[in-house]
Amino acid sequence: MGISRRKFLQGGALATAGLTLSGKPGEASVDAPDLRTKGLKSTTTICPFCSVGCGLLVHTKNGKVVNTEGDPQHPINQGALCPKGGALFQIANNDRRLQKVMYRAPGSDRWEEKNWDWALDRIARNMKETRDKTFKARETNKKDSKEYLVNRTDGMAFFGGAGLDNEECYLWSKFARAMGVGQLEHQARL
Ligand code: SF4
Repeated sequence: MGISRRKFLQGGALATAGLTLSGKPGEASVDAPDLRTKGLKSTTTICPFCSVGCGLLVHTKNGKVVNTEGDPQHPINQGALCPKGGALFQIANNDRRLQKVMYRAPGSDRWEEKNWDWALDRIARNMKETRDKTFKARETNKKDSKEYLVNRTDGMAFFGGAGLDNEECYLWSKFARAMGVGQLEHQARL
């Protein structure tokens, strides 16, 4: 027996209505997402991957992330996420995530495990040495051959990330300028 496309769609609509009406009050239907996260602690955060800055809800149980999803209250994404943001859960729950400082010395072919104090001291020392070696107070402009006060170093650059919020970006750029660094970039532009 043949069936027209119109009859098929009408039948489907009636079947759906029947299923909806047959549900008992209080049964899970459209409320399922709420039930899925019921009793969990909910915290807001910002996606660290790009400069769009989508908002997310992070649900935790006993300090462990058990769910992440787009924040419907966030003015930028209103609950929507791209595939990268949608996979944010894997940042917190991932056996392959590197959680220790690994260092490969210049010329070496192997990685060594270090602690954070060692890493921060080394970064600070390298920054100080680089700045001392490359800082210029004055520079001659090639166009007019005049000397100008510049107070800068071209020996290093600062690299921000989309995980930083407005206030952190402000402090980051202030710190860069105070160091005399003029080259600031953002991870999301690469
Ligand atoms: S990576 Fe995707 S989810 Fe994350 S901020 Fe950018 S657009 Fe939003």
